[in-house]
Amino acid sequence: MNTLSHYVAGEWLAAKDEQWSEDLNPSDTTQILARVPQGQPAVVDRAVEAAQSAFRAWKATPGPAKAEILHKAANLLAQKRQELGTLVALEVGKPLGEAVPEVDRGVAILRYFAEEAVHPMGMVIPAQTAGSLQFSLRQPLGPVAIISPWNFPVAIPLWKMAPALAYGNTIVWKPAEVASFVATRLVEVLAEAGLPAGVLNLVLGKGSTIGNVLTGHKGIRGISFTGSDTVGMSIGETAAKNNIKYQLEMGGKNAAIVLADADLQQAAKLIAAGAMRFAGQKCTATSRAIVVSEVNDSFIDRLAAEIHTLPLAPANDPRSAIGPLVERSALEKVNYYAELGAKEGQIALGGKAPAEAPLKQGYFFEPTVVVGVSPDARIAQEEVFGPVLVVHQARSVEEAIAIANNSRYGLSVSLFTRDINAMLEYIHDIECGMVRINGDTTGVDPHAPFGGMKSSSSHSREQGPAALEFFTEVKTVQVNA
Ligand code: NAP
Repeated sequence: MNTLSHYVAGEWLAAKDEQWSEDLNPSDTTQILARVPQGQPAVVDRAVEAAQSAFRAWKATPGPAKAEILHKAANLLAQKRQELGTLVALEVGKPLGEAVPEVDRGVAILRYFAEEAVHPMGMVIPAQTAGSLQFSLRQPLGPVAIISPWNFPVAIPLWKMAPALAYGNTIVWKPAEVASFVATRLVEVLAEAGLPAGVLNLVLGKGSTIGNVLTGHKGIRGISFTGSDTVGMSIGETAAKNNIKYQLEMGGKNAAIVLADADLQQAAKLIAAGAMRFAGQKCTATSRAIVVSEVNDSFIDRLAAEIHTLPLAPANDPRSAIGPLVERSALEKVNYYAELGAKEGQIALGGKAPAEAPLKQGYFFEPTVVVGVSPDARIAQEEVFGPVLVVHQARSVEEAIAIANNSRYGLSVSLFTRDINAMLEYIHDIECGMVRINGDTTGVDPHAPFGGMKSSSSHSREQGPAALEFFTEVKTVQVNA
């Protein structure tokens, strides 16, 4: 069995006095993939010290040299796309058909930020005093904490770490415990690409034991977090008290609105995919469909037919579209919400875990559709993070937008229509960060700013040009003769 290690100051730490957890394949829980060390606060202290020691030299490293390392990491990752994609499928249960493209997306992110390392930053500001030179300079924050979720174990860490590195920050990374194996492989790639010791440090273990130590650590100058809003809001409170720059990307209860003039077949296909692929375990997964009443019955029939085309199968089976839930507690949570849906409305499809082999060896749950619930019902308001879609009816575009906005979240949304007036009304009135028309609520281009509104985000953006804002701070400099 593989034994994983923390990576601190350029060394894989030999396991001493560690407690361990088992990293299971969620498609077949009889398969143990690795032993994961349960890091304690002392390893966080060592990792932050290493990031502090490495900061000065990394900040001073010329942009072209940083770019060369990030390009090399992109090339190495591209060579390992199949191997790493397979590990993503085995470790977190993401179907291969999405796991390998996620690695490709990681490659694109590394290349984008390699180029950013040689782009101009800052500006010249005309001075009031004759002869003075005034300009603004962007500088890295210092050692930053990266806290990532398990569901995009390659792309999310990279869309935080690549800009952090390109702009001169050093890193302590705490990945989700259930994605520790993929994290280890990713650090191997970045180390092999030539990152100097201490620039990137990896600590493994539980968020409740070491994540909170890291985010409250005095040596950390910035925190980039993606995960649930419960954890995110507590990190935000601590960071605000310590005046640490932070960004939080959190949950969603994403709606897709279907108007009467929509291409119903296209809408059913994309909503089925958005809700059920990877068992709905994406922050942008479609969890509410809001259908204009006159086409509701026809839409539900087409939706059910489209869901039936998506195979529920082990993630490393190339045919798989749905895959398992990531861990037992996630399966229990989805089962709880399916039962709640049956009380608050009716189950139109699915509603239980499959009992037959081989699926009963993993954390599988049938794709589930709930109808006949109030928009205020808990099943329509709370993030399930599983293959559960609630379908509401609305009488008009205005009512559909009001139902979509009736959520504390505001991450992603989609509208299906050909009516330009409805599109414009929706673009103006919808309360979400990622707004689609005639498309799936999931997915985003790797260079486009990404983020939510309301409880989905701390109101900053990630990816693309937005990353410069977070991972640097500005000095205004005046030089007088
Ligand atoms: P999570 O339970 O909040 O965990 C996220 C990360 O925080 C993990 O690394 C976790 O470590 C760590 N953590 C847990 N408790 C902590 C604490 N007290 N202090 C510091 N760190 C702590 O979320 P998840 O289950 O991994 O991911 C699912 C959630 O992420 C969903 O709500 C989903 O919507 C959201 N998400 C949002 C986006 C977005 O961009 N908006 C993208 C993907 C996912 P351990 O897991 O090891 O405990």
